[in-house]
Amino acid sequence: MILGGDDYFECPVCNTFVSRPFLLSGNTFKARLYSDGKKDAPMLPEFPAITKCPNCYHIYWLNANTKCEKQNSEQIPNAEFLSAFDLQRAIDEGLASNRENDIYLRQRILWTINDRFRYGFSLFNDYETRVLWDSNQLRLLAILDENQLNEKILIAEICRNMGAFSKSRDLISSIEHNDLDWVKAAFIENIDKRNKNVFEIKLL
Ligand SMILES: [Zn+2]
Repeated sequence: MILGGDDYFECPVCNTFVSRPFLLSGNTFKARLYSDGKKDAPMLPEFPAITKCPNCYHIYWLNANTKCEKQNSEQIPNAEFLSAFDLQRAIDEGLASNRENDIYLRQRILWTINDRFRYGFSLFNDYETRVLWDSNQLRLLAILDENQLNEKILIAEICRNMGAFSKSRDLISSIEHNDLDWVKAAFIENIDKRNKNVFEIKLL
């Protein structure tokens, strides 16, 4: 993995800067893939696409509109990933301006809550997280499109999370890509075990 340096962004409300590294090259060595679509690739890390200003807590996309010139100060903090509740706040504040952004934010709510289980804790640590999880799952089911392969797999994952195992199995079984047989086999195995939790999809 070769880091290329940092990009800089400016809060549109208070003009505080944050930085975000970018990669010149990376690879998927030791990458792990999970049933919720998250990839943990130590040599190909993901950086935030949306963040919260460390000064005024305004949430904004790190994009061409907020990108600024290189800053020379050493004091500029890294852009942080949003918590599940801040991701929901972003949606509430109208930052999911199109379908793609809406799915991005909602899949990250799913990933962020799943991270607790993924890294060895109980899935929910409080009632509010459970409520957020449930409403996010229902909203994802409403906006995802079964005709898009990646979205179909995510629908199957959400059905499995909800305990709708036969619906999940039907969706997975209907995938007709031979190169996804290993993904299908992993889902079927977990559906048969009545496992609702996120799992790692191991390469066969
Ligand atoms: Zn700010």
